Amino acid sequence: MPNVYIETMGCQMNKSDTERMLGMLSSLGYEETKNPKEADLLMVNTCSIRQLSEDKAYSTIGLWGKWKKEARPHIKIGLCGCVAQQKAKEIFKRAPYVDFVLGTHKIYSLPDIIKLINEGERVCECTETNATEDDRAKNFEIKRVKSVNAWIPITEGCNNFCTYCIVPYTRGRERSRTPELIVKEAKDALSQGFKEITLLGQNVDSYGKDFKDKNYRLADLLKELNALEGKFRIRFVTSYPTDITDELIQTAKELDKVCEYFHIPMQSGNSEVLKKMNRRYDRETYGEIVKKVRAAIPDVTITSDFIAGFPGETEEQFLDTLSAIDEFELDYSNTAAYSPREKTVAAKWVDKYIPEKEKTERLARLNKKVQENCLKSNQKYLGREMEVLIEGFENHKGTNIITGRTRNNKIVHIPCDTDRTGEFATVKITDCKTWYLNGELV
Ligand code: SF4
Repeated sequence: MPNVYIETMGCQMNKSDTERMLGMLSSLGYEETKNPKEADLLMVNTCSIRQLSEDKAYSTIGLWGKWKKEARPHIKIGLCGCVAQQKAKEIFKRAPYVDFVLGTHKIYSLPDIIKLINEGERVCECTETNATEDDRAKNFEIKRVKSVNAWIPITEGCNNFCTYCIVPYTRGRERSRTPELIVKEAKDALSQGFKEITLLGQNVDSYGKDFKDKNYRLADLLKELNALEGKFRIRFVTSYPTDITDELIQTAKELDKVCEYFHIPMQSGNSEVLKKMNRRYDRETYGEIVKKVRAAIPDVTITSDFIAGFPGETEEQFLDTLSAIDEFELDYSNTAAYSPREKTVAAKWVDKYIPEKEKTERLARLNKKVQENCLKSNQKYLGREMEVLIEGFENHKGTNIITGRTRNNKIVHIPCDTDRTGEFATVKITDCKTWYLNGELV
């Protein structure tokens, strides 16, 4: 049986695509290996959100190309994902040892591509499509990574065109998948033993806006999923602040399986910078949305994303980002220094670029603020009893521990000698660290 190794970079959407590609390859007789040196087919599923991730993809295929040239001429190499969608045939010039390039829009072409490369052809399939589904998806099972959480994409692409972001160019315009398919995938995952469903999209709360034949939005989908039998949890990421409707907040509050967790990227705490980023809200509007969610849903965790050193960002404007994290009591934030991406509007503002040293220094201060707030947020739960879904079991420095997450997405470590992965446990929080809580089984 031929072996396939897929290296997945970037976001959960890529991880979900990898699970689908592994399903297609398994139907062709490929077996997954975790060791690239054993693989007959090597694929990298790339991310182009930052230059660093793009560079990493090139260095990965560069190494595989060396193996192919020096010792294993039979291996086939494929580059997929966002870098593929963006660069298409250019990849062949840069890396002549690559056998196929497959963009994000046409992953269901993979079986046809494998057939062609095995006949000696080189293939580039990066055409864009507006289709949301592909009949070929029915021909294989998704090979989900063994875990308690199943990722299910509900939308693909984005229409927002934030000036720093490459996603609309790599994932295309926003398309919602049909509720029927999503519910089917959720039922399949639950019957396989998954205990948590995370609905995925660049902008999940605009789900359904593009349906011409029905009025069906994220709140409707949550209700339909919540009605499925059994004990499990539902999460959804990522939310665009101004697309969070009162109906969505109310629905999230009322449905027992929907977790108390919202990821609401703010990107900057300064209204001027937000305007330059083409975000459709200012600092005050963002604050009102966060307050509304907090008022409706007790113990909700609200996380965010921030960029340090956006072109033209002044020190004062950067300080507004730090103060926003405090003012809106953001529980945790993903952070990054601004990285110019080809084709985006902000990348053209070269004369406004912030020097690397300054960006790095701002990022360090931003990270420090995130850490402080994360600890503060965790300390609120000392002494509380919380429901934890156990995700793993390990021996840590001689002690057996189980690790899991609360409904509001806090990681908890619990001493325990038995593997209880997949179970729901009641845990008393005994200690709070910056990135996790310690607890004991009740
Ligand atoms: S909302 Fe903005 S940051 Fe998010 S994917 Fe769309 S363009 Fe990118």
